[in-house]
Amino acid sequence: MCFRDKIRKLILLKRHKLHIHTVGCKANQADSVIIDSGVQAGLFEKVQNNADADIVVINTCCVTVQAERDSKKVARSILRNNPQAKIIFTGCAVSAFKDFAKDFDNRAVTVGGGKTSPLQVSQWLNSFAENSLNITEVNKYLPYFDIPDNFTDLPAMPPENRTRAFLKIQNGCTHNCTYCIVPKARGKEQSMPLHLILERVGAFKASGVKELVLTGVQLGAYGSDLENLSNFENNNTLANVLQKSAELFYPGRIRLGSIEPWSVNEELVLTVANTKNICNHLHIPLQSGDDKVLGDMKRGYNTKFYKNILEIITSASSEIAVGTDVICGFPTESETAFENSLNFIKSCGFSYLHAFSYSSRPGTMAHKLYGEGDRTTAKTRVIKMREAGDKLHLQFIKTRINKKCTVLVEDDNKGVTETFLQVEINGQKRGTLIDCMLKQDENSGSLTATPL
Ligand code: SF4
Repeated sequence: MCFRDKIRKLILLKRHKLHIHTVGCKANQADSVIIDSGVQAGLFEKVQNNADADIVVINTCCVTVQAERDSKKVARSILRNNPQAKIIFTGCAVSAFKDFAKDFDNRAVTVGGGKTSPLQVSQWLNSFAENSLNITEVNKYLPYFDIPDNFTDLPAMPPENRTRAFLKIQNGCTHNCTYCIVPKARGKEQSMPLHLILERVGAFKASGVKELVLTGVQLGAYGSDLENLSNFENNNTLANVLQKSAELFYPGRIRLGSIEPWSVNEELVLTVANTKNICNHLHIPLQSGDDKVLGDMKRGYNTKFYKNILEIITSASSEIAVGTDVICGFPTESETAFENSLNFIKSCGFSYLHAFSYSSRPGTMAHKLYGEGDRTTAKTRVIKMREAGDKLHLQFIKTRINKKCTVLVEDDNKGVTETFLQVEINGQKRGTLIDCMLKQDENSGSLTATPL
């Protein structure tokens, strides 16, 4: 078809109203931005609400039973309230469960998944619209999406009007923790080569983003698949990526996403500690503070190893805040093991703690070996663990009061510090980074940042 015919066809096509709904983690949010940026404006009008859309892409999550349910629940609610709407499921739950759309008759299909390139999903959407396909026809049209050879997804444009954004530089995980469905959903490890990362970092900077979060599915595995690249790129460590990104992104700041304990090393910690515009914040999932449970989870470390990492961090800088995740009620977690976990966590000085109930996922080793676990016990333990987490958070706040911090001003007089504290900051322009003094209101306990 010649160019003029293509233009004529585009003019005659009725634009679909498209909304993208994201469930789950930062990697999914970054993928949704890529899907969004890859759809053609001539074919799709992007709408803010599900209710106004005729095509809703749901980027699904399956990390817990609840996340999987949420992905379906939102679809049911959209279909109930919007008779025009058709659903396109993509993301992790689609990779992990091939029949994910089966309960939705002819109003939903699955396209791509967590292993595939989100840009392929946008290309698919473009073809779908360009060929005026009906959703019931898509199965015969559905192309086979495999894991791409290279990690070359490029958001044509960073998200609009954002002060803070996520850039996914790594996909996949082969660690196979026994409880985790992610390796099934996301597949092999893949890293974005440094020159492509820097291209994107430059684009995010130019768009006005002031804090860029480098994220991945197993971020610490960055570089493991890049050994064959030329000398130009052969320093494929995460620390090097972080350093180079920070240099380019200055005066904006870079934050590192969640990183597993076995990937935290001195080079990385020193890069965080010694680079002015890398946030003093690391999120290092612990998952359990009991050695037997850590072994059953096949995490590959024990509490001594984890403590040693915390010591490396503290000796590099006392300013780095460390947050963590913990799973409560893993099927082999006895009452004593839970108490061990609680006590270990209390001794770690975390700045915050995310505690989750164990959620058994079909297809994982833990599901096969240990079954569902006891939901009631898990819920009771989560409550106890969160109480401990709240105390740790308050202790951390105390160490920061009357100290300097740098706040990124977001909406509604709210902001976030480099150590990931949410603060109130009045009368400052959205999207600016401001050096402040941190104060706490004696009555409400709320944190206020006062510009210096
Ligand atoms: S490191 Fe473990 S918990 Fe993290 S994605 Fe891989 S298998 Fe899942």
